[in-house]
Amino acid sequence: MFKKLSSSTVLHETAEQFHILVDSVEEYAIYLLDSNGNVITWNTGAEKIKGYSTEEIIGKNFASFYTADEVAAGKPQRNLREASRRGYIRDQGLRVRKDGSTFEAEVIITALHDDAGKLRGFSKVTRDITDQIRSREFEAEKIAAQKASKAKDDFLAALSHELRTPLTPALAAATYLQDNAERLPPEFTEDIEIIKRNVQLQARLIDDLLDLTRIARGKLHLELEDCDAHTIIQNALETASSAIAAKQLKVSTTLDAKRHHILADCIRLQQVFWNLINNAVKFTAQGGQITIRTFDDKAARFHFEIADTGIGIEPQRLASLFQPFEQADPSVSRQFGGLGLGLAISKRLVDLHHGRIEAESLGRSFGATFKVTLDTLPQGAAAVGLNHRLGGKASKPLRILLVEDHQDTRRTLSRLLTHFGHNVVTADNVEGAMAIMASNNIDAVLCDIGLPDGSGYEVAAQARATGRIKAIALTGFGTEQDVQRSKEAGFDFHLVKPINFQELQTVLDQTGT
Ligand code: ADP
Repeated sequence: MFKKLSSSTVLHETAEQFHILVDSVEEYAIYLLDSNGNVITWNTGAEKIKGYSTEEIIGKNFASFYTADEVAAGKPQRNLREASRRGYIRDQGLRVRKDGSTFEAEVIITALHDDAGKLRGFSKVTRDITDQIRSREFEAEKIAAQKASKAKDDFLAALSHELRTPLTPALAAATYLQDNAERLPPEFTEDIEIIKRNVQLQARLIDDLLDLTRIARGKLHLELEDCDAHTIIQNALETASSAIAAKQLKVSTTLDAKRHHILADCIRLQQVFWNLINNAVKFTAQGGQITIRTFDDKAARFHFEIADTGIGIEPQRLASLFQPFEQADPSVSRQFGGLGLGLAISKRLVDLHHGRIEAESLGRSFGATFKVTLDTLPQGAAAVGLNHRLGGKASKPLRILLVEDHQDTRRTLSRLLTHFGHNVVTADNVEGAMAIMASNNIDAVLCDIGLPDGSGYEVAAQARATGRIKAIALTGFGTEQDVQRSKEAGFDFHLVKPINFQELQTVLDQTGT
Protein backbone atom coordinates (compact mmCIF):
# COMPACT_ATOMS: atom_id res chain seq x y z
CA MET A 1 0.00 0.00 0.00
CA PHE A 2 1.11 3.50 -0.76
CA LYS A 3 2.53 5.11 2.36
CA LYS A 4 1.96 8.78 2.82
CA LEU A 5 4.90 10.38 4.55
CA SER A 6 4.76 13.34 6.89
CA SER A 7 7.34 16.11 6.34
CA SER A 8 9.16 15.15 9.53
CA THR A 9 9.44 11.57 8.29
CA VAL A 10 10.87 12.87 4.99
CA LEU A 11 13.40 14.92 6.86
CA HIS A 12 14.30 12.03 9.06
CA GLU A 13 14.73 9.71 6.08
CA THR A 14 16.77 12.31 4.21
CA ALA A 15 19.09 12.61 7.21
CA GLU A 16 19.38 8.87 7.32
CA GLN A 17 20.15 8.65 3.62
CA PHE A 18 22.70 11.38 4.08
CA HIS A 19 24.28 9.44 6.89
CA ILE A 20 24.41 6.30 4.72
CA LEU A 21 25.92 8.29 1.90
CA VAL A 22 28.62 9.83 4.11
CA ASP A 23 29.35 6.53 5.72
CA SER A 24 29.79 4.72 2.43
CA VAL A 25 32.22 7.22 0.95
CA GLU A 26 35.62 5.59 0.94
CA GLU A 27 37.78 8.18 -0.77
CA TYR A 28 37.17 10.89 1.82
CA ALA A 29 37.40 10.87 5.57
CA ILE A 30 34.22 12.74 6.60
CA TYR A 31 33.57 13.23 10.30
CA LEU A 32 32.40 15.67 12.93
CA LEU A 33 34.34 17.24 15.77
CA ASP A 34 32.88 18.91 18.82
CA SER A 35 33.87 22.49 19.49
CA ASN A 36 37.07 21.29 21.27
CA GLY A 37 38.14 19.12 18.37
CA ASN A 38 37.08 15.75 19.78
CA VAL A 39 35.85 13.25 17.22
CA ILE A 40 32.09 12.57 17.42
CA THR A 41 31.36 10.72 14.14
CA TRP A 42 33.53 8.58 11.88
CA ASN A 43 32.92 7.20 8.38
CA THR A 44 34.30 4.29 6.35
CA GLY A 45 36.61 6.64 4.41
CA ALA A 46 38.06 7.96 7.67
CA GLU A 47 38.68 4.44 8.90
CA LYS A 48 40.34 3.53 5.61
CA ILE A 49 42.48 6.63 5.34
CA LYS A 50 43.49 7.01 9.00
CA GLY A 51 43.42 3.41 10.16
CA TYR A 52 41.31 3.92 13.34
CA SER A 53 38.05 2.05 13.85
CA THR A 54 35.01 4.06 15.05
CA GLU A 55 35.31 2.68 18.58
CA GLU A 56 38.96 3.57 18.81
CA ILE A 57 38.65 7.17 17.76
CA ILE A 58 35.32 8.51 19.03
CA GLY A 59 36.04 10.93 21.85
CA LYS A 60 39.73 11.33 20.97
CA ASN A 61 41.05 14.72 19.96
CA PHE A 62 41.72 15.27 16.28
CA ALA A 63 45.20 16.59 17.16
CA SER A 64 46.36 12.97 17.05
CA PHE A 65 46.14 13.19 13.23
CA TYR A 66 48.81 15.88 13.17
CA THR A 67 52.58 15.36 13.34
CA ALA A 68 54.26 15.89 16.71
CA ASP A 69 55.94 19.06 15.44
CA GLU A 70 52.65 20.57 14.37
CA VAL A 71 50.97 19.64 17.62
CA ALA A 72 53.85 21.28 19.49
CA ALA A 73 53.42 24.38 17.33
CA GLY A 74 49.71 24.49 18.18
CA LYS A 75 48.51 23.95 14.64
CA PRO A 76 45.38 21.82 15.34
CA GLN A 77 43.85 24.37 17.69
CA ARG A 78 44.92 27.23 15.44
CA ASN A 79 43.10 25.56 12.52
CA LEU A 80 39.93 25.28 14.58
CA ARG A 81 40.14 28.92 15.67
CA GLU A 82 40.67 30.01 12.05
CA ALA A 83 37.74 27.87 10.86
CA SER A 84 35.37 29.30 13.48
CA ARG A 85 36.52 32.84 12.69
CA ARG A 86 36.32 32.57 8.88
CA GLY A 87 33.64 29.88 8.58
CA TYR A 88 36.03 27.29 7.16
CA ILE A 89 39.69 26.60 6.52
CA ARG A 90 41.46 24.70 3.82
CA ASP A 91 44.76 23.08 4.66
CA GLN A 92 47.26 20.79 3.06
CA GLY A 93 50.07 18.92 4.74
CA LEU A 94 51.29 15.73 6.33
CA ARG A 95 48.87 13.80 8.54
CA VAL A 96 49.55 10.79 10.72
CA ARG A 97 47.79 7.41 10.54
CA LYS A 98 47.16 5.15 13.49
CA ASP A 99 50.27 3.11 12.69
CA GLY A 100 52.41 6.26 12.73
CA SER A 101 52.89 6.41 8.98
CA THR A 102 52.16 9.72 7.27
CA PHE A 103 50.29 10.77 4.16
CA GLU A 104 49.81 13.99 2.27
CA ALA A 105 46.33 15.31 3.07
CA GLU A 106 44.00 17.94 1.73
CA VAL A 107 41.68 19.07 4.49
CA ILE A 108 38.61 21.28 4.78
CA ILE A 109 37.37 22.15 8.25
CA THR A 110 34.00 23.89 8.37
CA ALA A 111 32.56 25.50 11.52
CA LEU A 112 29.02 24.40 12.41
CA HIS A 113 26.78 26.86 14.22
CA ASP A 114 23.28 26.39 15.63
CA ASP A 115 20.35 28.64 14.87
CA ALA A 116 21.41 30.97 17.66
CA GLY A 117 24.83 31.33 16.05
CA LYS A 118 26.59 29.33 18.73
CA LEU A 119 29.55 27.18 17.62
CA ARG A 120 28.54 23.52 17.92
CA GLY A 121 31.48 21.85 16.36
CA PHE A 122 33.19 21.26 13.05
CA SER A 123 32.83 19.05 10.02
CA LYS A 124 36.06 17.78 8.61
CA VAL A 125 36.71 16.35 5.18
CA THR A 126 40.13 14.86 4.51
CA ARG A 127 41.47 13.41 1.28
CA ASP A 128 44.69 11.45 0.81
CA ILE A 129 46.46 13.21 -2.07
CA THR A 130 49.82 11.42 -1.76
CA ASP A 131 49.52 9.89 -5.26
CA GLN A 132 48.52 13.18 -6.76
CA ILE A 133 51.49 14.94 -5.14
CA ARG A 134 53.79 12.17 -6.30
CA SER A 135 52.58 12.42 -9.88
CA ARG A 136 52.87 16.21 -9.68
CA GLU A 137 56.42 15.81 -8.39
CA PHE A 138 57.11 13.29 -11.14
CA GLU A 139 55.74 15.73 -13.71
CA ALA A 140 57.90 18.50 -12.26
CA GLU A 141 60.93 16.22 -12.34
CA LYS A 142 60.14 15.33 -15.93
CA ILE A 143 59.90 18.97 -16.92
CA ALA A 144 63.14 19.73 -15.07
CA ALA A 145 64.84 16.82 -16.86
CA GLN A 146 63.55 18.02 -20.22
CA LYS A 147 64.84 21.50 -19.45
CA ALA A 148 68.21 20.12 -18.42
CA SER A 149 68.38 18.02 -21.55
CA LYS A 150 67.54 21.03 -23.70
CA ALA A 151 70.16 23.06 -21.85
CA LYS A 152 72.68 20.30 -22.52
CA ASP A 153 71.80 20.29 -26.23
CA ASP A 154 72.05 24.06 -26.43
CA PHE A 155 75.36 23.87 -24.63
CA LEU A 156 76.65 21.20 -27.01
CA ALA A 157 75.54 23.24 -30.02
CA ALA A 158 77.24 26.35 -28.64
CA LEU A 159 80.33 24.38 -27.70
CA SER A 160 80.61 22.79 -31.10
CA HIS A 161 80.20 26.20 -32.69
CA GLU A 162 83.04 27.57 -30.62
CA LEU A 163 85.19 24.53 -31.32
CA ARG A 164 84.55 24.61 -35.05
CA THR A 165 85.32 28.28 -35.61
CA PRO A 166 89.11 27.99 -35.31
CA LEU A 167 89.18 24.87 -37.47
CA THR A 168 88.09 26.61 -40.66
CA PRO A 169 91.11 28.92 -41.03
CA ALA A 170 93.45 26.11 -40.02
CA LEU A 171 91.99 23.84 -42.67
CA ALA A 172 91.86 26.61 -45.27
CA ALA A 173 95.51 27.48 -44.63
CA ALA A 174 96.58 23.84 -44.86
CA THR A 175 94.58 23.33 -48.06
CA TYR A 176 96.16 26.41 -49.56
CA LEU A 177 99.65 25.23 -48.64
CA GLN A 178 98.88 21.79 -50.03
CA ASP A 179 97.66 23.28 -53.29
CA ASN A 180 100.95 25.23 -53.49
CA ALA A 181 103.15 22.37 -52.38
CA GLU A 182 105.54 22.83 -55.29
CA ARG A 183 106.58 26.20 -53.88
CA LEU A 184 107.45 24.75 -50.48
CA PRO A 185 110.54 22.89 -49.34
CA PRO A 186 109.65 19.19 -49.65
CA GLU A 187 110.18 18.44 -45.96
CA PHE A 188 107.04 20.46 -45.15
CA THR A 189 104.58 18.55 -47.28
CA GLU A 190 104.11 15.86 -44.69
CA ASP A 191 103.49 18.46 -41.97
CA ILE A 192 100.71 19.97 -44.03
CA GLU A 193 99.13 16.56 -44.35
CA ILE A 194 99.41 16.13 -40.57
CA ILE A 195 97.72 19.47 -39.90
CA LYS A 196 94.92 18.71 -42.33
CA ARG A 197 94.33 15.22 -41.05
CA ASN A 198 94.19 16.30 -37.44
CA VAL A 199 91.93 19.25 -38.06
CA GLN A 200 89.57 16.95 -39.93
CA LEU A 201 89.72 14.45 -37.10
CA GLN A 202 88.89 17.17 -34.61
CA ALA A 203 85.92 18.21 -36.73
CA ARG A 204 84.79 14.59 -36.86
CA LEU A 205 84.85 14.29 -33.06
CA ILE A 206 82.76 17.43 -32.71
CA ASP A 207 80.30 16.09 -35.27
CA ASP A 208 80.05 12.80 -33.40
CA LEU A 209 79.08 14.56 -30.20
CA LEU A 210 76.42 16.53 -32.00
CA ASP A 211 75.15 13.51 -33.94
CA LEU A 212 74.77 11.59 -30.73
CA THR A 213 72.54 14.27 -29.18
CA ARG A 214 70.51 14.50 -32.36
CA ILE A 215 70.07 10.73 -32.48
CA ALA A 216 69.18 10.60 -28.79
CA ARG A 217 66.48 13.20 -29.32
CA GLY A 218 65.21 11.59 -32.51
CA LYS A 219 66.19 14.70 -34.41
CA LEU A 220 68.41 13.11 -37.00
CA HIS A 221 66.87 13.66 -40.37
CA LEU A 222 67.71 11.35 -43.29
CA GLU A 223 67.77 12.61 -46.87
CA LEU A 224 66.86 9.43 -48.66
CA GLU A 225 67.98 8.95 -52.24
CA ASP A 226 69.29 6.23 -54.49
CA CYS A 227 72.86 5.58 -53.29
CA ASP A 228 75.42 3.37 -54.93
CA ALA A 229 76.95 1.57 -51.95
CA HIS A 230 80.04 0.65 -53.96
CA THR A 231 80.79 4.28 -54.79
CA ILE A 232 80.24 5.17 -51.16
CA ILE A 233 82.61 2.46 -49.95
CA GLN A 234 85.26 3.60 -52.39
CA ASN A 235 84.86 7.19 -51.26
CA ALA A 236 85.16 6.16 -47.63
CA LEU A 237 88.26 4.15 -48.44
CA GLU A 238 89.77 7.12 -50.21
CA THR A 239 89.24 9.27 -47.13
CA ALA A 240 91.20 6.72 -45.12
CA SER A 241 93.88 6.24 -47.78
CA SER A 242 96.61 8.32 -46.17
CA ALA A 243 96.19 6.54 -42.82
CA ILE A 244 96.25 3.18 -44.65
CA ALA A 245 99.43 4.18 -46.46
CA ALA A 246 101.03 5.47 -43.27
CA LYS A 247 100.55 2.08 -41.57
CA GLN A 248 101.43 0.16 -44.72
CA LEU A 249 98.27 -1.86 -44.42
CA LYS A 250 97.32 -4.24 -47.19
CA VAL A 251 93.76 -3.67 -48.25
CA SER A 252 91.92 -6.12 -50.46
CA THR A 253 88.57 -5.02 -51.79
CA THR A 254 86.19 -7.41 -53.51
CA LEU A 255 82.96 -5.66 -54.42
CA ASP A 256 80.96 -8.61 -55.68
CA ALA A 257 77.43 -7.47 -54.90
CA LYS A 258 75.40 -7.31 -58.09
CA ARG A 259 72.75 -5.27 -56.36
CA HIS A 260 74.37 -2.34 -54.61
CA HIS A 261 71.84 0.45 -54.94
CA ILE A 262 70.27 1.41 -51.65
CA LEU A 263 67.59 3.87 -50.69
CA ALA A 264 69.59 5.74 -48.11
CA ASP A 265 71.09 8.99 -46.93
CA CYS A 266 74.35 8.72 -48.88
CA ILE A 267 76.32 10.96 -46.52
CA ARG A 268 75.17 9.03 -43.45
CA LEU A 269 75.85 5.69 -45.10
CA GLN A 270 79.33 6.86 -46.00
CA GLN A 271 79.76 7.83 -42.36
CA VAL A 272 78.97 4.23 -41.33
CA PHE A 273 81.43 2.69 -43.78
CA TRP A 274 84.02 5.33 -42.92
CA ASN A 275 83.67 4.52 -39.19
CA LEU A 276 84.18 0.81 -39.82
CA ILE A 277 87.12 1.33 -42.16
CA ASN A 278 88.63 3.88 -39.83
CA ASN A 279 88.33 1.48 -36.87
CA ALA A 280 89.90 -1.35 -38.84
CA VAL A 281 92.80 0.93 -39.73
CA LYS A 282 93.07 2.27 -36.19
CA PHE A 283 93.08 -1.11 -34.45
CA THR A 284 95.35 -2.97 -36.87
CA ALA A 285 99.10 -2.87 -36.43
CA GLN A 286 101.61 -1.75 -39.04
CA GLY A 287 101.67 -4.05 -42.09
CA GLY A 288 98.37 -5.75 -41.21
CA GLN A 289 95.61 -6.80 -43.56
CA ILE A 290 92.13 -5.39 -44.11
CA THR A 291 89.70 -7.34 -46.25
CA ILE A 292 86.57 -5.69 -47.56
CA ARG A 293 83.96 -7.55 -49.49
CA THR A 294 80.40 -7.07 -50.60
CA PHE A 295 77.89 -9.58 -51.87
CA ASP A 296 74.13 -9.89 -52.14
CA ASP A 297 71.84 -12.68 -51.09
CA LYS A 298 68.69 -14.30 -52.42
CA ALA A 299 66.54 -11.87 -50.46
CA ALA A 300 68.19 -9.04 -52.43
CA ARG A 301 70.00 -7.77 -49.37
CA PHE A 302 73.33 -6.03 -49.69
CA HIS A 303 76.13 -7.30 -47.42
CA PHE A 304 79.25 -5.39 -46.49
CA GLU A 305 82.00 -7.07 -44.49
CA ILE A 306 85.24 -5.65 -43.26
CA ALA A 307 87.73 -7.97 -41.56
CA ASP A 308 91.04 -6.94 -40.07
CA THR A 309 94.01 -8.68 -38.51
CA GLY A 310 94.16 -6.18 -35.66
CA ILE A 311 93.85 -6.34 -31.89
CA GLY A 312 90.47 -8.11 -31.92
CA ILE A 313 87.73 -7.92 -29.31
CA GLU A 314 86.98 -10.11 -26.27
CA PRO A 315 83.79 -12.09 -27.06
CA GLN A 316 82.01 -10.87 -23.90
CA ARG A 317 82.51 -7.28 -25.00
CA LEU A 318 81.04 -7.70 -28.47
CA ALA A 319 77.46 -7.00 -27.38
CA SER A 320 78.15 -3.67 -25.68
CA LEU A 321 80.35 -2.22 -28.44
CA PHE A 322 77.41 -0.43 -29.98
CA GLN A 323 76.56 1.43 -26.77
CA PRO A 324 77.61 5.09 -26.59
CA PHE A 325 80.97 5.75 -24.91
CA GLU A 326 81.64 2.01 -24.85
CA GLN A 327 85.20 1.06 -25.64
CA ALA A 328 86.20 -2.57 -25.66
CA ASP A 329 89.23 -2.07 -23.49
CA PRO A 330 89.86 1.38 -22.09
CA SER A 331 93.58 0.80 -21.68
CA VAL A 332 93.93 -0.27 -25.32
CA SER A 333 91.54 2.31 -26.67
CA ARG A 334 93.27 5.13 -24.83
CA GLN A 335 96.37 4.73 -26.95
CA PHE A 336 94.25 4.85 -30.13
CA GLY A 337 92.12 7.85 -29.17
CA GLY A 338 88.42 8.25 -29.93
CA LEU A 339 85.33 8.87 -27.83
CA GLY A 340 83.71 5.47 -28.32
CA LEU A 341 80.81 7.03 -30.22
CA GLY A 342 81.50 5.85 -33.76
CA LEU A 343 79.88 2.43 -33.44
CA ALA A 344 76.92 3.73 -31.43
CA ILE A 345 76.22 6.29 -34.11
CA SER A 346 76.78 3.74 -36.89
CA LYS A 347 74.34 1.35 -35.26
CA ARG A 348 71.65 4.03 -34.96
CA LEU A 349 72.24 5.09 -38.55
CA VAL A 350 72.00 1.52 -39.82
CA ASP A 351 68.85 1.01 -37.70
CA LEU A 352 67.32 4.11 -39.25
CA HIS A 353 67.98 2.51 -42.63
CA HIS A 354 66.28 -0.69 -41.38
CA GLY A 355 69.52 -2.60 -41.71
CA ARG A 356 71.74 -4.64 -39.38
CA ILE A 357 75.24 -4.16 -38.06
CA GLU A 358 77.16 -6.83 -36.18
CA ALA A 359 80.62 -7.43 -34.81
CA GLU A 360 82.52 -10.71 -34.68
CA SER A 361 85.86 -11.58 -33.19
CA LEU A 362 87.49 -14.72 -31.90
CA GLY A 363 89.11 -12.67 -29.15
CA ARG A 364 92.09 -10.57 -28.33
CA SER A 365 94.65 -10.45 -31.16
CA PHE A 366 92.46 -12.50 -33.50
CA GLY A 367 91.28 -9.52 -35.51
CA ALA A 368 87.69 -8.34 -35.87
CA THR A 369 84.98 -8.48 -38.51
CA PHE A 370 82.13 -6.01 -38.85
CA LYS A 371 79.12 -6.75 -41.02
CA VAL A 372 76.44 -4.46 -42.35
CA THR A 373 73.30 -5.72 -44.11
CA LEU A 374 70.92 -3.43 -45.98
CA ASP A 375 67.97 -3.83 -48.31
CA THR A 376 68.66 -2.92 -51.92
CA LEU A 377 66.65 -0.97 -54.44
CA PRO A 378 65.26 -2.74 -57.49
CA GLN A 379 67.89 -3.06 -60.21
CA GLY A 380 68.19 -0.46 -62.92
CA ALA A 381 67.77 2.52 -60.62
CA ALA A 382 70.09 5.43 -61.37
CA ALA A 383 73.15 5.91 -59.22
CA VAL A 384 73.76 9.03 -57.26
CA GLY A 385 77.48 9.22 -56.82
CA LEU A 386 79.28 11.03 -54.09
CA ASN A 387 82.24 11.86 -56.25
CA HIS A 388 83.19 15.37 -55.45
CA ARG A 389 85.64 17.28 -57.51
CA LEU A 390 88.91 17.67 -55.64
CA GLY A 391 91.04 20.82 -55.75
CA GLY A 392 91.76 22.66 -58.97
CA LYS A 393 90.17 25.72 -60.47
CA ALA A 394 86.53 26.70 -60.36
CA SER A 395 84.41 25.81 -63.37
CA LYS A 396 83.46 29.47 -63.64
CA PRO A 397 85.13 32.38 -61.86
CA LEU A 398 82.68 34.22 -59.62
CA ARG A 399 82.61 37.59 -57.91
CA ILE A 400 82.28 36.57 -54.30
CA LEU A 401 81.58 38.68 -51.26
CA LEU A 402 82.95 36.99 -48.15
CA VAL A 403 81.37 38.30 -44.94
CA GLU A 404 83.22 37.02 -41.89
CA ASP A 405 84.25 38.74 -38.67
CA HIS A 406 86.77 36.09 -37.63
CA GLN A 407 89.94 37.58 -39.05
CA ASP A 408 91.90 34.36 -39.64
CA THR A 409 88.95 32.74 -41.35
CA ARG A 410 88.39 35.79 -43.55
CA ARG A 411 92.03 35.95 -44.59
CA THR A 412 92.60 32.25 -45.25
CA LEU A 413 89.25 31.64 -46.96
CA SER A 414 89.63 34.69 -49.13
CA ARG A 415 93.08 33.54 -50.22
CA LEU A 416 91.83 30.03 -50.96
CA LEU A 417 88.85 31.29 -52.97
CA THR A 418 91.18 33.55 -54.96
CA HIS A 419 93.40 30.55 -55.50
CA PHE A 420 90.39 28.66 -56.89
CA GLY A 421 90.07 31.45 -59.47
CA HIS A 422 87.35 33.67 -57.96
CA ASN A 423 87.36 37.41 -57.38
CA VAL A 424 86.88 38.02 -53.71
CA VAL A 425 85.87 41.10 -51.74
CA THR A 426 85.45 40.92 -48.01
CA ALA A 427 83.43 42.57 -45.26
CA ASP A 428 83.52 41.98 -41.53
CA ASN A 429 80.07 43.22 -40.61
CA VAL A 430 76.52 43.60 -41.93
CA GLU A 431 76.83 47.28 -42.77
CA GLY A 432 79.96 46.72 -44.90
CA ALA A 433 78.34 43.75 -46.64
CA MET A 434 75.21 45.75 -47.51
CA ALA A 435 77.30 48.58 -48.97
CA ILE A 436 79.34 46.19 -51.12
CA MET A 437 76.25 44.35 -52.39
CA ALA A 438 74.67 47.69 -53.34
CA SER A 439 77.62 49.04 -55.26
CA ASN A 440 79.39 45.98 -56.68
CA ASN A 441 78.41 43.35 -59.11
CA ILE A 442 78.40 40.30 -56.87
CA ASP A 443 77.46 36.72 -57.90
CA ALA A 444 77.54 35.09 -54.52
CA VAL A 445 77.81 36.06 -50.90
CA LEU A 446 79.45 33.69 -48.44
CA CYS A 447 78.29 34.82 -45.08
CA ASP A 448 78.87 34.05 -41.43
CA ILE A 449 75.65 34.22 -39.38
CA GLY A 450 76.79 35.80 -36.12
CA LEU A 451 78.19 39.22 -37.03
CA PRO A 452 79.13 42.10 -34.71
CA ASP A 453 76.44 44.54 -35.89
CA GLY A 454 73.67 42.11 -36.78
CA SER A 455 73.16 38.74 -38.35
CA GLY A 456 73.92 37.07 -41.65
CA TYR A 457 70.16 36.60 -42.08
CA GLU A 458 69.88 40.30 -42.93
CA VAL A 459 72.60 39.91 -45.55
CA ALA A 460 70.87 36.85 -47.01
CA ALA A 461 67.55 38.70 -47.19
CA GLN A 462 69.24 41.55 -49.05
CA ALA A 463 70.96 39.10 -51.43
CA ARG A 464 67.65 37.41 -52.13
CA ALA A 465 65.99 40.78 -52.74
CA THR A 466 68.44 41.48 -55.59
CA GLY A 467 67.14 38.37 -57.33
CA ARG A 468 70.59 37.40 -58.62
CA ILE A 469 73.03 37.11 -55.71
CA LYS A 470 73.24 33.59 -54.30
CA ALA A 471 73.70 33.42 -50.55
CA ILE A 472 75.69 30.72 -48.81
CA ALA A 473 75.72 30.48 -45.02
CA LEU A 474 79.08 29.64 -43.45
CA THR A 475 78.38 28.82 -39.86
CA GLY A 476 79.36 26.80 -36.86
CA PHE A 477 75.68 26.05 -36.16
CA GLY A 478 74.74 22.81 -37.84
CA THR A 479 71.52 21.53 -36.28
CA GLU A 480 68.42 20.83 -38.37
CA GLN A 481 66.77 23.95 -36.96
CA ASP A 482 69.80 26.05 -37.91
CA VAL A 483 69.68 24.79 -41.48
CA GLN A 484 65.92 25.39 -41.64
CA ARG A 485 66.25 28.85 -40.18
CA SER A 486 68.94 29.90 -42.66
CA LYS A 487 66.83 28.57 -45.52
CA GLU A 488 63.87 30.63 -44.34
CA ALA A 489 66.08 33.70 -44.04
CA GLY A 490 66.98 33.46 -47.73
CA PHE A 491 70.19 31.44 -47.81
CA ASP A 492 70.48 29.11 -50.80
CA PHE A 493 73.03 26.85 -49.11
CA HIS A 494 74.14 26.16 -45.58
CA LEU A 495 77.72 25.04 -44.95
CA VAL A 496 78.92 24.10 -41.49
CA LYS A 497 82.39 24.99 -40.23
CA PRO A 498 84.99 23.73 -40.65
CA ILE A 499 84.10 24.18 -44.27
CA ASN A 500 84.48 21.14 -46.44
CA PHE A 501 86.18 22.70 -49.45
CA GLN A 502 84.95 20.07 -51.87
CA GLU A 503 81.43 20.87 -50.78
CA LEU A 504 82.13 24.59 -51.07
CA GLN A 505 83.46 24.11 -54.59
CA THR A 506 80.42 22.07 -55.55
CA VAL A 507 78.11 24.75 -54.19
CA LEU A 508 80.03 27.50 -55.99
CA ASP A 509 79.97 25.51 -59.23
CA GLN A 510 76.19 25.29 -58.90
CA THR A 511 76.03 29.00 -58.18
CA GLY A 512 77.90 29.77 -61.37
CA THR A 513 75.59 27.80 -63.64
P1 ADP B 1 86.26 4.68 -30.78
O1 ADP B 1 86.93 4.00 -31.91
O2 ADP B 1 86.18 6.14 -30.92
O3 ADP B 1 86.73 4.24 -29.45
P2 ADP B 1 83.91 3.23 -31.67
O4 ADP B 1 82.51 3.33 -31.20
O5 ADP B 1 84.17 3.38 -33.12
O6 ADP B 1 84.72 4.28 -30.82
O7 ADP B 1 84.47 1.83 -31.20
C1 ADP B 1 84.21 1.40 -29.88
C2 ADP B 1 85.23 0.39 -29.44
O8 ADP B 1 85.09 -0.80 -30.18
C3 ADP B 1 86.66 0.83 -29.69
O9 ADP B 1 87.15 1.65 -28.67
C4 ADP B 1 87.37 -0.50 -29.74
O10 ADP B 1 87.64 -0.92 -28.43
C5 ADP B 1 86.34 -1.45 -30.35
N1 ADP B 1 86.56 -1.64 -31.78
C6 ADP B 1 85.91 -1.05 -32.80
N2 ADP B 1 86.37 -1.49 -33.99
C7 ADP B 1 87.34 -2.38 -33.72
C8 ADP B 1 88.21 -3.19 -34.52
N3 ADP B 1 88.15 -3.16 -35.85
N4 ADP B 1 89.08 -3.98 -33.87
C9 ADP B 1 89.13 -4.02 -32.53
N5 ADP B 1 88.36 -3.27 -31.73
C10 ADP B 1 87.47 -2.48 -32.30
